[in-house]
Amino acid sequence: MTKRQNKNQLKLTGIAVSSGIAIGKVRLIERTKAQITYQYLINDDQIKHNVRRFKDALSSTENQLITLKNHMPDIIKEHGFIMDSHLMILKDSMLTESTVNRILDKKICAEWALKQSLEEIRQIFNQIEDEYISSRINDVENVTERILWNLSGETQESLTNIKEPVIIAAHDLSPADTTEINVSKVIAFITDMGGRTSHAAIMAQSLQIPVVVGLESATKQLKDGDLLIVNGNTGEIIVNPDNNTLIYYQEKKKEQEEYKSTITKSSHLPAITLDGHQITVRANIEFKEEVVAVRNFAAEGIGLYRTEYLYLWNNKLPSEEELFEDYRKATETIAPAIINIRTLDLGADKVSSNLRMPKEKNPALGLRAIRFCLKEQQIFKNQLRAIIRASNYGNLQIIFPMISGIQEILDIKNIITQITEELTSKKIAFDSNIKYGIMIEVPSAVIMAEELAKHVDFFSIGTNDLIQYALAIDRENKNVAYMYQPFHPAILRMIHHVVKVAKNARIGVALCGEMCGDPLCVPILLGLGLKEFSMHAMAIPLIKKIIRSTSLEEASTDFDNILKLDTAKDVREYILNRMKRLLPELQEKGYLDH
Ligand code: PEP
Ligand code: MG
Repeated sequence: MTKRQNKNQLKLTGIAVSSGIAIGKVRLIERTKAQITYQYLINDDQIKHNVRRFKDALSSTENQLITLKNHMPDIIKEHGFIMDSHLMILKDSMLTESTVNRILDKKICAEWALKQSLEEIRQIFNQIEDEYISSRINDVENVTERILWNLSGETQESLTNIKEPVIIAAHDLSPADTTEINVSKVIAFITDMGGRTSHAAIMAQSLQIPVVVGLESATKQLKDGDLLIVNGNTGEIIVNPDNNTLIYYQEKKKEQEEYKSTITKSSHLPAITLDGHQITVRANIEFKEEVVAVRNFAAEGIGLYRTEYLYLWNNKLPSEEELFEDYRKATETIAPAIINIRTLDLGADKVSSNLRMPKEKNPALGLRAIRFCLKEQQIFKNQLRAIIRASNYGNLQIIFPMISGIQEILDIKNIITQITEELTSKKIAFDSNIKYGIMIEVPSAVIMAEELAKHVDFFSIGTNDLIQYALAIDRENKNVAYMYQPFHPAILRMIHHVVKVAKNARIGVALCGEMCGDPLCVPILLGLGLKEFSMHAMAIPLIKKIIRSTSLEEASTDFDNILKLDTAKDVREYILNRMKRLLPELQEKGYLDH
Protein backbone atom coordinates (compact mmCIF):
# COMPACT_ATOMS: atom_id res chain seq x y z
CA MET A 1 0.00 0.00 0.00
CA THR A 2 1.64 3.32 -1.01
CA LYS A 3 1.12 6.14 1.44
CA ARG A 4 2.10 9.77 0.93
CA GLN A 5 5.36 10.58 2.68
CA ASN A 6 5.00 14.35 2.94
CA LYS A 7 2.20 16.58 4.12
CA ASN A 8 1.40 18.33 0.84
CA GLN A 9 -2.19 19.33 0.33
CA LEU A 10 -4.07 16.84 -1.82
CA LYS A 11 -7.53 17.21 -3.35
CA LEU A 12 -9.66 14.22 -4.36
CA THR A 13 -13.18 14.13 -5.70
CA GLY A 14 -15.84 11.49 -5.14
CA ILE A 15 -19.61 11.45 -4.97
CA ALA A 16 -21.29 13.85 -2.54
CA VAL A 17 -23.89 11.92 -0.59
CA SER A 18 -24.70 13.91 2.51
CA SER A 19 -24.17 17.68 2.64
CA GLY A 20 -22.15 19.85 4.98
CA ILE A 21 -18.48 20.47 5.68
CA ALA A 22 -16.39 18.60 8.26
CA ILE A 23 -12.81 19.26 9.32
CA GLY A 24 -11.00 16.75 11.49
CA LYS A 25 -8.47 13.97 11.93
CA VAL A 26 -8.66 10.81 9.83
CA ARG A 27 -9.29 7.45 11.45
CA LEU A 28 -8.65 4.66 8.97
CA ILE A 29 -10.93 1.72 9.51
CA GLU A 30 -9.51 -1.46 8.13
CA ARG A 31 -12.35 -3.39 6.66
CA THR A 32 -10.15 -6.15 5.35
CA LYS A 33 -11.95 -9.12 3.96
CA ALA A 34 -12.29 -12.09 6.25
CA GLN A 35 -9.23 -14.24 5.60
CA ILE A 36 -10.32 -17.24 3.57
CA THR A 37 -7.20 -19.24 3.20
CA TYR A 38 -9.23 -22.39 3.21
CA GLN A 39 -10.49 -23.70 -0.08
CA TYR A 40 -10.32 -27.40 0.44
CA LEU A 41 -12.12 -30.57 -0.41
CA ILE A 42 -13.56 -32.46 2.53
CA ASN A 43 -14.13 -36.13 3.07
CA ASP A 44 -17.48 -37.72 3.97
CA ASP A 45 -16.79 -37.51 7.71
CA GLN A 46 -16.35 -33.75 7.52
CA ILE A 47 -19.54 -32.99 5.62
CA LYS A 48 -21.77 -32.90 8.68
CA HIS A 49 -19.27 -30.78 10.59
CA ASN A 50 -19.09 -28.19 7.77
CA VAL A 51 -22.86 -27.96 7.44
CA ARG A 52 -23.04 -27.46 11.23
CA ARG A 53 -20.34 -24.73 11.14
CA PHE A 54 -22.18 -22.95 8.35
CA LYS A 55 -25.52 -23.11 10.18
CA ASP A 56 -23.89 -21.85 13.40
CA ALA A 57 -22.32 -18.96 11.48
CA LEU A 58 -25.76 -18.14 10.03
CA SER A 59 -27.36 -18.02 13.45
CA SER A 60 -24.50 -15.91 14.93
CA THR A 61 -24.90 -13.52 11.99
CA GLU A 62 -28.64 -13.35 12.57
CA ASN A 63 -28.15 -12.57 16.27
CA GLN A 64 -25.61 -9.86 15.49
CA LEU A 65 -27.86 -8.20 12.92
CA ILE A 66 -30.84 -8.26 15.30
CA THR A 67 -28.70 -6.73 18.08
CA LEU A 68 -27.44 -4.02 15.71
CA LYS A 69 -30.98 -3.27 14.59
CA ASN A 70 -32.25 -3.04 18.17
CA HIS A 71 -29.45 -0.66 19.15
CA MET A 72 -29.72 1.64 16.14
CA PRO A 73 -29.43 5.33 17.12
CA ASP A 74 -32.84 7.03 17.10
CA ILE A 75 -32.00 9.27 14.14
CA ILE A 76 -31.50 6.33 11.82
CA LYS A 77 -34.23 4.08 13.26
CA GLU A 78 -36.39 4.84 10.23
CA HIS A 79 -33.88 2.81 8.21
CA GLY A 80 -34.43 -0.33 10.28
CA PHE A 81 -35.86 -1.87 7.13
CA ILE A 82 -32.34 -2.00 5.69
CA MET A 83 -31.29 -4.28 8.52
CA ASP A 84 -34.50 -6.25 7.89
CA SER A 85 -33.46 -6.66 4.28
CA HIS A 86 -30.08 -8.01 5.44
CA LEU A 87 -31.93 -10.48 7.64
CA MET A 88 -33.99 -11.45 4.59
CA ILE A 89 -30.83 -11.98 2.51
CA LEU A 90 -29.58 -14.22 5.30
CA LYS A 91 -32.63 -16.42 4.79
CA ASP A 92 -32.47 -16.44 0.99
CA SER A 93 -32.15 -19.94 -0.38
CA MET A 94 -29.73 -18.77 -3.10
CA LEU A 95 -27.29 -18.08 -0.29
CA THR A 96 -28.17 -20.63 2.37
CA GLU A 97 -29.59 -23.78 0.77
CA SER A 98 -27.30 -23.55 -2.20
CA THR A 99 -24.27 -23.32 0.12
CA VAL A 100 -25.40 -26.38 2.06
CA ASN A 101 -26.02 -28.23 -1.22
CA ARG A 102 -22.55 -27.33 -2.42
CA ILE A 103 -21.01 -28.70 0.77
CA LEU A 104 -23.00 -31.90 0.34
CA ASP A 105 -22.63 -32.37 -3.42
CA LYS A 106 -19.19 -30.99 -4.15
CA LYS A 107 -17.66 -31.98 -0.81
CA ILE A 108 -16.02 -28.61 -0.29
CA CYS A 109 -15.56 -26.64 2.94
CA ALA A 110 -18.23 -24.19 4.12
CA GLU A 111 -16.17 -21.06 3.29
CA TRP A 112 -15.53 -22.15 -0.26
CA ALA A 113 -19.14 -23.21 -0.80
CA LEU A 114 -20.39 -19.85 0.47
CA LYS A 115 -18.02 -17.96 -1.83
CA GLN A 116 -19.27 -19.95 -4.80
CA SER A 117 -22.89 -19.13 -3.90
CA LEU A 118 -21.97 -15.44 -3.71
CA GLU A 119 -20.28 -15.64 -7.10
CA GLU A 120 -23.42 -17.13 -8.63
CA ILE A 121 -25.59 -14.34 -7.18
CA ARG A 122 -23.06 -11.76 -8.35
CA GLN A 123 -23.37 -13.00 -11.91
CA ILE A 124 -27.15 -12.58 -11.80
CA PHE A 125 -26.81 -9.01 -10.49
CA ASN A 126 -24.19 -8.24 -13.17
CA GLN A 127 -26.84 -8.64 -15.83
CA ILE A 128 -29.03 -5.95 -14.29
CA GLU A 129 -28.56 -2.58 -15.90
CA ASP A 130 -30.30 -0.44 -13.30
CA GLU A 131 -27.70 1.17 -11.02
CA TYR A 132 -29.94 1.04 -7.96
CA ILE A 133 -30.79 -2.64 -8.22
CA SER A 134 -27.40 -3.86 -9.38
CA SER A 135 -25.76 -1.97 -6.51
CA ARG A 136 -27.86 -4.07 -4.10
CA ILE A 137 -25.24 -6.80 -4.61
CA ASN A 138 -23.32 -4.78 -2.01
CA ASP A 139 -25.89 -5.80 0.58
CA VAL A 140 -25.48 -9.48 -0.33
CA GLU A 141 -21.69 -9.04 -0.11
CA ASN A 142 -21.96 -7.35 3.30
CA VAL A 143 -24.04 -10.19 4.68
CA THR A 144 -21.74 -12.84 3.18
CA GLU A 145 -18.72 -11.07 4.65
CA ARG A 146 -20.28 -11.18 8.11
CA ILE A 147 -21.00 -14.93 7.74
CA LEU A 148 -17.39 -15.48 6.66
CA TRP A 149 -16.10 -13.62 9.71
CA ASN A 150 -18.30 -15.77 11.89
CA LEU A 151 -17.00 -18.90 10.18
CA SER A 152 -13.45 -17.75 10.88
CA GLY A 153 -14.25 -17.20 14.55
CA GLU A 154 -12.56 -13.77 14.45
CA THR A 155 -14.09 -10.31 14.92
CA GLN A 156 -13.74 -6.97 13.10
CA GLU A 157 -13.03 -3.66 14.75
CA SER A 158 -16.30 -2.11 15.93
CA LEU A 159 -17.03 1.55 15.25
CA THR A 160 -18.50 1.81 18.75
CA ASN A 161 -14.89 1.77 20.07
CA ILE A 162 -14.23 5.24 18.66
CA LYS A 163 -13.81 7.60 21.60
CA GLU A 164 -12.80 10.96 20.13
CA PRO A 165 -14.16 13.01 17.22
CA VAL A 166 -12.77 11.72 13.91
CA ILE A 167 -13.54 11.40 10.23
CA ILE A 168 -13.82 7.74 9.34
CA ALA A 169 -12.11 6.65 6.15
CA ALA A 170 -12.75 3.11 4.97
CA HIS A 171 -12.50 1.18 1.76
CA ASP A 172 -16.18 0.37 2.22
CA LEU A 173 -18.73 0.58 5.01
CA SER A 174 -21.76 -1.64 5.36
CA PRO A 175 -25.19 -0.50 6.56
CA ALA A 176 -24.43 -2.48 9.73
CA ASP A 177 -21.31 -0.32 10.23
CA THR A 178 -23.43 2.76 9.74
CA THR A 179 -25.75 1.71 12.56
CA GLU A 180 -22.73 1.76 14.89
CA ILE A 181 -21.75 5.33 14.08
CA ASN A 182 -22.07 7.62 17.06
CA VAL A 183 -22.48 11.11 15.61
CA SER A 184 -20.95 12.72 18.68
CA LYS A 185 -17.71 10.93 17.77
CA VAL A 186 -17.84 10.46 14.01
CA ILE A 187 -18.10 13.87 12.34
CA ALA A 188 -18.02 12.62 8.73
CA PHE A 189 -17.14 9.57 6.71
CA ILE A 190 -15.58 8.84 3.37
CA THR A 191 -15.23 5.59 1.45
CA ASP A 192 -13.43 4.38 -1.65
CA MET A 193 -16.44 2.35 -2.71
CA GLY A 194 -20.13 3.11 -2.90
CA GLY A 195 -22.52 5.17 -4.99
CA ARG A 196 -25.26 7.68 -4.34
CA THR A 197 -27.84 4.94 -3.87
CA SER A 198 -25.88 2.53 -1.66
CA HIS A 199 -27.75 1.83 1.54
CA ALA A 200 -24.93 3.06 3.76
CA ALA A 201 -25.24 6.34 1.82
CA ILE A 202 -29.01 6.52 2.28
CA MET A 203 -28.62 5.98 6.04
CA ALA A 204 -25.81 8.53 6.23
CA GLN A 205 -28.20 11.25 5.07
CA SER A 206 -30.28 10.64 8.19
CA LEU A 207 -27.20 10.86 10.39
CA GLN A 208 -26.83 14.36 8.97
CA ILE A 209 -23.04 14.22 8.82
CA PRO A 210 -21.09 15.02 5.65
CA VAL A 211 -20.38 11.93 3.55
CA VAL A 212 -18.42 11.44 0.35
CA VAL A 213 -18.24 7.99 -1.28
CA GLY A 214 -16.80 6.54 -4.48
CA LEU A 215 -13.33 8.05 -3.86
CA GLU A 216 -11.77 5.02 -5.56
CA SER A 217 -8.35 4.66 -3.89
CA ALA A 218 -8.42 7.54 -1.41
CA THR A 219 -7.73 5.38 1.62
CA LYS A 220 -4.42 4.31 0.06
CA GLN A 221 -3.34 7.94 0.15
CA LEU A 222 -4.36 8.61 3.75
CA LYS A 223 -2.68 7.97 7.09
CA ASP A 224 -4.25 7.83 10.52
CA GLY A 225 -4.23 11.33 12.00
CA ASP A 226 -4.05 13.22 8.66
CA LEU A 227 -6.03 16.44 8.76
CA LEU A 228 -8.97 16.21 6.38
CA ILE A 229 -11.67 18.50 5.01
CA VAL A 230 -14.78 16.73 3.73
CA ASN A 231 -17.08 18.81 1.54
CA GLY A 232 -20.34 16.88 1.39
CA ASN A 233 -21.85 19.48 -0.96
CA THR A 234 -19.35 19.09 -3.80
CA GLY A 235 -17.85 15.62 -3.14
CA GLU A 236 -14.39 17.07 -2.61
CA ILE A 237 -11.98 16.00 0.14
CA ILE A 238 -8.79 17.88 0.94
CA VAL A 239 -6.02 16.00 2.73
CA ASN A 240 -3.62 18.02 4.90
CA PRO A 241 -4.89 21.42 3.70
CA ASP A 242 -2.55 24.39 3.73
CA ASN A 243 -3.33 27.24 6.09
CA ASN A 244 -5.27 29.41 3.65
CA THR A 245 -7.46 26.50 2.57
CA LEU A 246 -8.08 25.54 6.17
CA ILE A 247 -9.14 29.06 7.17
CA TYR A 248 -11.36 29.33 4.09
CA TYR A 249 -13.18 26.08 4.91
CA GLN A 250 -13.46 26.85 8.62
CA GLU A 251 -15.32 30.03 7.72
CA LYS A 252 -17.44 28.32 5.07
CA LYS A 253 -18.38 25.57 7.52
CA LYS A 254 -19.43 28.07 10.17
CA GLU A 255 -21.49 30.08 7.70
CA GLN A 256 -23.19 27.00 6.24
CA GLU A 257 -24.07 25.60 9.65
CA GLU A 258 -25.58 28.87 10.77
CA TYR A 259 -27.51 29.16 7.54
CA LYS A 260 -28.74 25.56 7.58
CA SER A 261 -29.97 25.90 11.14
CA THR A 262 -31.83 29.14 10.32
CA ILE A 263 -33.54 27.76 7.23
CA THR A 264 -34.39 24.45 8.92
CA LYS A 265 -35.94 26.32 11.86
CA SER A 266 -38.07 28.32 9.46
CA SER A 267 -39.07 25.27 7.40
CA HIS A 268 -42.31 24.78 9.34
CA LEU A 269 -43.48 28.24 8.18
CA PRO A 270 -45.86 28.13 5.23
CA ALA A 271 -44.33 28.75 1.82
CA ILE A 272 -45.93 32.12 1.10
CA THR A 273 -44.36 34.40 -1.51
CA LEU A 274 -43.46 38.03 -0.71
CA ASP A 275 -46.68 39.12 -2.38
CA GLY A 276 -48.84 36.73 -0.40
CA HIS A 277 -49.37 33.67 -2.64
CA GLN A 278 -49.48 30.31 -0.89
CA ILE A 279 -47.37 27.56 -2.49
CA THR A 280 -47.60 23.89 -1.54
CA VAL A 281 -44.35 22.00 -0.94
CA ARG A 282 -44.56 18.22 -0.64
CA ALA A 283 -41.98 15.41 -0.57
CA ASN A 284 -41.10 12.50 -2.86
CA ILE A 285 -40.51 9.17 -1.12
CA GLU A 286 -39.61 5.61 -2.08
CA PHE A 287 -40.23 3.76 1.22
CA LYS A 288 -43.03 4.21 3.73
CA GLU A 289 -40.38 4.60 6.48
CA GLU A 290 -39.42 7.96 4.99
CA VAL A 291 -42.72 9.50 6.01
CA VAL A 292 -41.33 10.38 9.46
CA ALA A 293 -38.33 12.25 8.03
CA VAL A 294 -40.64 14.02 5.63
CA ARG A 295 -42.59 15.43 8.55
CA ASN A 296 -39.38 16.57 10.24
CA PHE A 297 -38.58 18.62 7.14
CA ALA A 298 -42.07 20.14 7.28
CA ALA A 299 -43.35 18.78 3.98
CA GLU A 300 -47.03 19.41 3.48
CA GLY A 301 -47.73 15.81 2.48
CA ILE A 302 -46.29 13.30 0.02
CA GLY A 303 -46.39 14.54 -3.57
CA LEU A 304 -45.08 11.27 -4.96
CA TYR A 305 -44.74 7.83 -3.40
CA ARG A 306 -42.77 5.70 -5.89
CA THR A 307 -43.94 2.16 -5.22
CA GLU A 308 -41.39 -0.03 -6.97
CA TYR A 309 -39.36 -0.90 -3.85
CA LEU A 310 -41.54 -3.78 -2.60
CA TYR A 311 -41.41 -5.38 -6.04
CA LEU A 312 -37.68 -4.99 -6.51
CA TRP A 313 -36.49 -6.19 -3.16
CA ASN A 314 -38.50 -9.27 -2.35
CA ASN A 315 -37.74 -12.56 -3.98
CA LYS A 316 -41.44 -13.00 -4.67
CA LEU A 317 -44.22 -10.69 -5.77
CA PRO A 318 -45.73 -8.78 -2.83
CA SER A 319 -49.23 -9.90 -1.91
CA GLU A 320 -52.22 -7.53 -1.92
CA GLU A 321 -52.21 -7.65 1.90
CA GLU A 322 -48.52 -6.68 2.15
CA LEU A 323 -49.08 -3.80 -0.23
CA PHE A 324 -52.24 -2.70 1.57
CA GLU A 325 -50.44 -2.65 4.95
CA ASP A 326 -47.59 -0.60 3.49
CA TYR A 327 -49.91 1.96 1.85
CA ARG A 328 -52.25 2.09 4.86
CA LYS A 329 -49.39 2.85 7.28
CA ALA A 330 -47.92 5.55 5.03
CA THR A 331 -51.38 7.10 4.52
CA GLU A 332 -52.24 7.06 8.22
CA THR A 333 -48.86 8.46 9.27
CA ILE A 334 -49.04 11.50 6.99
CA ALA A 335 -52.81 12.12 7.44
CA PRO A 336 -54.57 14.52 7.32
CA ALA A 337 -52.04 15.70 4.71
CA ILE A 338 -52.32 14.29 1.20
CA ILE A 339 -50.37 11.27 -0.03
CA ASN A 340 -50.09 10.66 -3.77
CA ILE A 341 -49.38 6.99 -4.40
CA ARG A 342 -48.08 6.26 -7.88
CA THR A 343 -48.79 2.86 -9.40
CA LEU A 344 -45.89 0.71 -10.56
CA ASP A 345 -43.30 2.36 -12.77
CA LEU A 346 -41.32 -0.81 -13.51
CA GLY A 347 -39.42 -1.27 -16.72
CA ALA A 348 -36.66 0.86 -18.27
CA ASP A 349 -34.07 1.12 -15.50
CA LYS A 350 -36.19 -0.67 -12.89
CA VAL A 351 -36.47 -4.35 -13.67
CA SER A 352 -37.55 -7.02 -11.26
CA SER A 353 -36.18 -10.53 -11.35
CA ASN A 354 -39.56 -11.81 -10.05
CA LEU A 355 -41.45 -10.62 -13.08
CA ARG A 356 -41.43 -11.80 -16.61
CA MET A 357 -40.00 -8.65 -18.11
CA PRO A 358 -38.57 -8.84 -21.61
CA LYS A 359 -34.99 -7.77 -22.31
CA GLU A 360 -35.48 -4.85 -24.68
CA LYS A 361 -33.23 -2.89 -27.00
CA ASN A 362 -34.62 0.49 -25.97
CA PRO A 363 -36.09 -0.18 -22.52
CA ALA A 364 -36.89 3.49 -21.81
CA LEU A 365 -39.18 3.32 -24.84
CA GLY A 366 -40.37 -0.17 -24.06
CA LEU A 367 -42.76 -2.03 -21.81
CA ARG A 368 -42.50 0.41 -18.94
CA ALA A 369 -44.86 1.76 -16.24
CA ILE A 370 -48.52 1.83 -17.29
CA ARG A 371 -47.75 -0.18 -20.45
CA PHE A 372 -46.42 -3.04 -18.34
CA CYS A 373 -49.39 -2.75 -15.94
CA LEU A 374 -51.98 -2.82 -18.70
CA LYS A 375 -50.31 -5.92 -20.11
CA GLU A 376 -49.86 -7.71 -16.76
CA GLN A 377 -53.30 -6.81 -15.45
CA GLN A 378 -53.31 -9.22 -12.53
CA ILE A 379 -50.25 -7.53 -11.03
CA PHE A 380 -51.79 -4.11 -11.70
CA LYS A 381 -55.16 -5.04 -10.20
CA ASN A 382 -53.54 -6.38 -7.03
CA GLN A 383 -51.68 -3.15 -6.50
CA LEU A 384 -54.58 -0.91 -7.41
CA ARG A 385 -56.95 -2.80 -5.11
CA ALA A 386 -54.45 -2.42 -2.24
CA ILE A 387 -54.12 1.33 -2.88
CA ILE A 388 -57.88 1.88 -3.21
CA ARG A 389 -58.48 -0.01 0.07
CA ALA A 390 -55.82 2.13 1.81
CA SER A 391 -57.75 5.25 0.75
CA ASN A 392 -60.08 4.58 3.68
CA TYR A 393 -57.31 5.58 6.11
CA GLY A 394 -56.44 9.15 5.18
CA ASN A 395 -56.21 11.55 2.29
CA LEU A 396 -54.96 9.39 -0.57
CA GLN A 397 -54.75 10.20 -4.27
CA ILE A 398 -53.54 7.92 -7.08
CA ILE A 399 -51.15 8.78 -9.91
CA PHE A 400 -50.59 6.73 -13.08
CA PRO A 401 -47.12 6.97 -14.67
CA MET A 402 -46.07 7.40 -18.30
CA ILE A 403 -49.46 8.13 -19.81
CA SER A 404 -49.13 8.83 -23.52
CA GLY A 405 -52.76 9.20 -24.60
CA ILE A 406 -56.47 8.91 -23.82
CA GLN A 407 -56.82 5.19 -24.53
CA GLU A 408 -54.66 4.28 -21.56
CA ILE A 409 -56.89 6.33 -19.26
CA LEU A 410 -60.03 4.65 -20.60
CA ASP A 411 -58.46 1.24 -19.99
CA ILE A 412 -57.43 2.23 -16.46
CA LYS A 413 -60.91 3.54 -15.71
CA ASN A 414 -62.40 0.21 -16.73
CA ILE A 415 -60.16 -1.57 -14.30
CA ILE A 416 -60.94 0.92 -11.51
CA THR A 417 -64.66 0.34 -12.06
CA GLN A 418 -64.22 -3.44 -11.83
CA ILE A 419 -62.25 -3.07 -8.58
CA THR A 420 -64.57 -0.59 -6.89
CA GLU A 421 -67.67 -2.65 -7.81
CA GLU A 422 -66.03 -5.73 -6.39
CA LEU A 423 -65.02 -3.94 -3.16
CA THR A 424 -68.53 -2.51 -2.79
CA SER A 425 -70.16 -5.90 -3.26
CA LYS A 426 -67.82 -7.39 -0.64
CA LYS A 427 -68.55 -4.44 1.68
CA ILE A 428 -64.85 -3.51 1.85
CA ALA A 429 -64.43 0.17 2.75
CA PHE A 430 -62.67 2.70 0.48
CA ASP A 431 -62.93 6.40 -0.27
CA SER A 432 -65.45 6.73 -3.09
CA ASN A 433 -64.14 10.24 -3.92
CA ILE A 434 -60.53 9.29 -4.56
CA LYS A 435 -58.81 11.72 -6.91
CA TYR A 436 -57.00 10.19 -9.88
CA GLY A 437 -54.09 11.95 -11.56
CA ILE A 438 -51.57 11.21 -14.29
CA MET A 439 -47.88 11.89 -14.72
CA ILE A 440 -47.19 14.24 -17.59
CA GLU A 441 -43.81 12.96 -18.71
CA VAL A 442 -44.27 11.96 -22.35
CA PRO A 443 -44.40 14.74 -25.00
CA SER A 444 -47.63 13.34 -26.51
CA ALA A 445 -49.33 13.89 -23.13
CA VAL A 446 -48.24 17.54 -23.21
CA ILE A 447 -49.77 17.98 -26.64
CA MET A 448 -52.96 16.16 -25.61
CA ALA A 449 -53.15 17.92 -22.23
CA GLU A 450 -56.50 19.62 -22.94
CA GLU A 451 -58.17 16.34 -23.81
CA LEU A 452 -56.49 14.44 -20.98
CA ALA A 453 -57.65 17.08 -18.49
CA LYS A 454 -61.27 16.09 -19.21
CA HIS A 455 -60.61 12.61 -17.80
CA VAL A 456 -58.51 13.17 -14.67
CA ASP A 457 -58.50 15.19 -11.44
CA PHE A 458 -54.93 16.41 -11.62
CA PHE A 459 -51.61 16.40 -13.48
CA SER A 460 -48.23 15.68 -11.96
CA ILE A 461 -45.43 16.83 -14.24
CA GLY A 462 -42.49 14.41 -14.18
CA THR A 463 -39.64 16.42 -15.62
CA ASN A 464 -37.05 13.69 -15.04
CA ASP A 465 -38.65 11.76 -17.86
CA LEU A 466 -40.16 14.67 -19.75
CA ILE A 467 -36.66 16.04 -20.34
CA GLN A 468 -35.46 12.59 -21.45
CA TYR A 469 -38.31 12.02 -23.89
CA ALA A 470 -38.62 15.60 -25.18
CA LEU A 471 -34.92 16.14 -25.82
CA ALA A 472 -34.36 12.54 -26.96
CA ILE A 473 -31.58 11.84 -24.48
CA ASP A 474 -31.30 8.76 -22.32
CA ARG A 475 -31.34 9.98 -18.71
CA GLU A 476 -28.90 7.18 -17.76
CA ASN A 477 -26.40 7.83 -20.56
CA LYS A 478 -23.26 9.70 -19.44
CA ASN A 479 -22.38 10.68 -23.03
CA VAL A 480 -25.44 12.86 -23.40
CA ALA A 481 -25.71 13.99 -19.78
CA TYR A 482 -24.68 17.49 -20.88
CA MET A 483 -27.95 17.69 -22.81
CA TYR A 484 -30.10 16.92 -19.78
CA GLN A 485 -31.24 20.54 -19.54
CA PRO A 486 -34.15 21.60 -17.36
CA PHE A 487 -33.57 25.18 -18.59
CA HIS A 488 -34.07 24.20 -22.23
CA PRO A 489 -36.68 26.62 -23.66
CA ALA A 490 -38.66 23.67 -25.05
CA ILE A 491 -38.98 22.14 -21.58
CA LEU A 492 -40.03 25.43 -20.00
CA ARG A 493 -42.65 25.97 -22.72
CA MET A 494 -44.02 22.46 -22.24
CA ILE A 495 -44.37 22.92 -18.47
CA HIS A 496 -45.93 26.35 -19.02
CA HIS A 497 -48.45 24.87 -21.45
CA VAL A 498 -49.45 22.06 -19.06
CA VAL A 499 -49.88 24.47 -16.14
CA LYS A 500 -52.08 26.78 -18.27
CA VAL A 501 -54.22 23.89 -19.51
CA ALA A 502 -54.73 22.57 -15.97
CA LYS A 503 -55.73 26.00 -14.72
CA ASN A 504 -58.24 26.52 -17.54
CA ALA A 505 -59.68 23.06 -16.93
CA ARG A 506 -59.74 23.76 -13.16
CA ILE A 507 -57.81 20.64 -12.28
CA GLY A 508 -54.76 20.38 -10.00
CA VAL A 509 -51.21 20.54 -11.33
CA ALA A 510 -47.96 19.79 -9.50
CA LEU A 511 -44.35 19.14 -10.51
CA CYS A 512 -42.44 16.26 -8.94
CA GLY A 513 -39.24 15.96 -11.00
CA GLU A 514 -35.82 16.70 -9.46
CA MET A 515 -35.90 20.11 -11.09
CA CYS A 516 -38.17 21.60 -8.46
CA GLY A 517 -35.58 20.91 -5.73
CA ASP A 518 -33.06 23.01 -7.69
CA PRO A 519 -32.73 26.55 -6.26
CA LEU A 520 -32.30 28.05 -9.73
CA CYS A 521 -35.38 26.36 -11.22
CA VAL A 522 -37.81 27.36 -8.49
CA PRO A 523 -38.23 31.06 -9.45
CA ILE A 524 -38.83 30.03 -13.07
CA LEU A 525 -41.48 27.49 -12.08
CA LEU A 526 -43.15 30.06 -9.85
CA GLY A 527 -43.03 32.56 -12.71
CA LEU A 528 -44.79 30.21 -15.11
CA GLY A 529 -47.62 29.76 -12.63
CA LEU A 530 -46.84 26.53 -10.80
CA LYS A 531 -48.14 26.45 -7.22
CA GLU A 532 -47.50 22.82 -6.14
CA PHE A 533 -44.04 21.32 -5.81
CA SER A 534 -42.83 17.91 -4.67
CA MET A 535 -39.17 17.10 -4.05
CA HIS A 536 -36.54 15.17 -2.10
CA ALA A 537 -37.29 16.00 1.59
CA MET A 538 -33.85 17.42 2.43
CA ALA A 539 -34.28 20.11 -0.24
CA ILE A 540 -37.47 21.45 1.35
CA PRO A 541 -36.07 23.99 3.87
CA LEU A 542 -34.01 25.76 1.19
CA ILE A 543 -36.74 25.71 -1.43
CA LYS A 544 -39.29 27.09 1.05
CA LYS A 545 -36.82 29.84 1.93
CA ILE A 546 -36.49 30.74 -1.78
CA ILE A 547 -40.27 30.78 -2.22
CA ARG A 548 -40.66 33.08 0.79
CA SER A 549 -38.07 35.43 -0.71
CA THR A 550 -39.71 35.63 -4.14
CA SER A 551 -42.44 37.94 -5.40
CA LEU A 552 -44.74 36.04 -7.73
CA GLU A 553 -45.39 39.16 -9.74
CA GLU A 554 -41.67 39.71 -10.35
CA ALA A 555 -41.13 36.00 -11.07
CA SER A 556 -43.86 36.20 -13.67
CA THR A 557 -42.24 39.24 -15.35
CA ASP A 558 -38.95 37.33 -15.30
CA PHE A 559 -40.64 34.40 -16.98
CA ASP A 560 -41.92 36.68 -19.78
CA ASN A 561 -38.29 37.72 -20.34
CA ILE A 562 -37.09 34.12 -20.15
CA LEU A 563 -39.55 33.12 -22.87
CA LYS A 564 -37.67 35.44 -25.22
CA LEU A 565 -34.38 33.59 -24.66
CA ASP A 566 -33.22 30.95 -27.13
CA THR A 567 -30.87 28.65 -25.24
CA ALA A 568 -30.67 26.81 -21.92
CA LYS A 569 -27.39 28.63 -21.25
CA ASP A 570 -29.02 32.05 -21.64
CA VAL A 571 -31.90 31.02 -19.34
CA ARG A 572 -29.49 29.78 -16.71
CA GLU A 573 -27.44 32.95 -16.81
CA TYR A 574 -30.54 35.12 -16.56
CA ILE A 575 -31.87 33.31 -13.51
CA LEU A 576 -28.44 33.04 -11.89
CA ASN A 577 -28.05 36.81 -12.01
CA ARG A 578 -31.56 37.22 -10.66
CA MET A 579 -30.86 34.85 -7.75
CA LYS A 580 -27.57 36.54 -6.93
CA ARG A 581 -29.50 39.76 -6.43
CA LEU A 582 -32.48 38.14 -4.71
CA LEU A 583 -30.61 35.94 -2.24
CA PRO A 584 -26.88 36.78 -2.38
CA GLU A 585 -26.22 34.45 0.54
CA LEU A 586 -27.02 31.41 -1.64
CA GLN A 587 -24.14 32.29 -3.93
CA GLU A 588 -21.82 32.95 -0.97
CA LYS A 589 -22.67 29.66 0.67
CA GLY A 590 -22.13 27.61 -2.47
CA TYR A 591 -25.75 26.60 -3.17
CA LEU A 592 -25.60 27.91 -6.75
CA ASP A 593 -22.25 26.29 -7.58
CA HIS A 594 -23.38 23.27 -9.58
C1 PEP B 1 -40.17 12.03 -13.27
O1 PEP B 1 -40.04 11.36 -14.30
O2 PEP B 1 -39.94 13.26 -13.21
C2 PEP B 1 -40.56 11.38 -12.01
C3 PEP B 1 -40.81 12.09 -10.93
O3 PEP B 1 -40.62 10.04 -11.99
P1 PEP B 1 -39.35 9.04 -11.91
O4 PEP B 1 -38.13 9.87 -11.57
O5 PEP B 1 -39.71 8.06 -10.88
O6 PEP B 1 -39.31 8.47 -13.29
MG1 MG C 1 -40.87 9.40 -14.45
